[in-house]
Amino acid sequence: MAKCVMVLYPDPVDGYPPKYARDSIPTIKSYPDGSTVPSPSSIDFTPGELLGCVSGALGLRKFFEDGGHELVVTSDKDGPDSEFERELVDADIVISQPFWPAYLTKERIDKAPNLKLALTAGIGSDHVDLDAAQQRGITVAEVTYSNSISVAEHAVMQILTLVRSFVPSHRWAAEGGWNIADCVEHAYDLEGMDVGVIAAGRIGRAVLRRLAPFDVNLHYTDTRRLSPDVEKQLNVTFHPDVESLVRSVDVVSVHSPLYDATRQMFNERLLGTMRRGSYIVNTARGEETVPEAIAAALRSGQLAGYAGDVWYPQPPPADHPWRTMPNNAMTPHVSGTTLSAQARYAAGTREILESFFAGTTIRPEYLIVEGGKLAGTGALSYQK
Ligand code: NAD
Repeated sequence: MAKCVMVLYPDPVDGYPPKYARDSIPTIKSYPDGSTVPSPSSIDFTPGELLGCVSGALGLRKFFEDGGHELVVTSDKDGPDSEFERELVDADIVISQPFWPAYLTKERIDKAPNLKLALTAGIGSDHVDLDAAQQRGITVAEVTYSNSISVAEHAVMQILTLVRSFVPSHRWAAEGGWNIADCVEHAYDLEGMDVGVIAAGRIGRAVLRRLAPFDVNLHYTDTRRLSPDVEKQLNVTFHPDVESLVRSVDVVSVHSPLYDATRQMFNERLLGTMRRGSYIVNTARGEETVPEAIAAALRSGQLAGYAGDVWYPQPPPADHPWRTMPNNAMTPHVSGTTLSAQARYAAGTREILESFFAGTTIRPEYLIVEGGKLAGTGALSYQK
């Protein structure tokens, strides 16, 4: 019998939804590169349900009960008195999500001698101290590709939201006005602009593909250059580093994993090298920026807009500078947790648990740390 602590975001303030806007979600049969979608032996939820909150429990309550395991589900995750920290001490498995991350620091890992598996229901395991996990022999796994397209759609939406200046126009309409000049004094077409992505992994490539029909000039940088064939197919210009990319584009979309090489990448110096009036969309991680430097660049006009859904910490304090900085189109961390994405990452979480309990190999694309070292996707993402 194992004990699992699952940390999920709280239920909707009006309670768990009795019904949904749509009756079903499309079935995705494989990912764009042909790799296999999550394939657990079965599922105990209806795709399209809200699974990522406490009552949803990733559709896994019955699975844990049937296996005779103990499951604790909580949203109370921060501070030494939190339910997470109290329950962690004898947990074998921790499941968390980047949207509402249970920060698994070295101190917390030290308090959890039984911990064997840290599972991310989603993508991005930077909320786990990966060095400490390696030292302790803890397996870290995530549901690679489960929400990559969800995030790519959000990034494209936010690029258009910023460049077309959607937010002020919506505000004028909702508040009863018709102030055309106020709406458009900050609005441009995306057509003809230089648009670049930092990291052309699963999400970055999906963003490039989706932007091509807008007749923009596409650019990218990545520590692993794409093959000449793929570059040609995407019609994209490679830059050897972030510095070269950001001074060559009007819009930057950030898709790099968070680790030492990318932490605080967008600081005052890098922002100062960008074209005046650039836009940044960041759906990667908030810590890849210096928040105060972003806010200052918006105030000075060096940046024309900033959008994204990732912050640090999460949830951010009420006085976080990004809540009030000008020309922002921030959302809470939602891009990868649409109802569509939840069905995939809940199924993938179950697939990983089935392998773990059966003692069989976890798919390499799901692995971040195993056997005391970075493994699978982790070895490609979290080191240069
Ligand atoms: P991926 O593993 O497919 O791609 C990561 C890419 O980053 C790889 O191509 C890798 O070579 C490249 N890379 C690594 N270090 C780099 C560096 N220093 N500079 C430039 N490129 C570098 O991952 P993905 O599915 O595309 O996800 C990327 C990131 O997006 C995740 O690590 C996660 O932090 C974030 N994410 C956010 C959400 C969300 O809800 N907002 C959801 C999923 C993922």
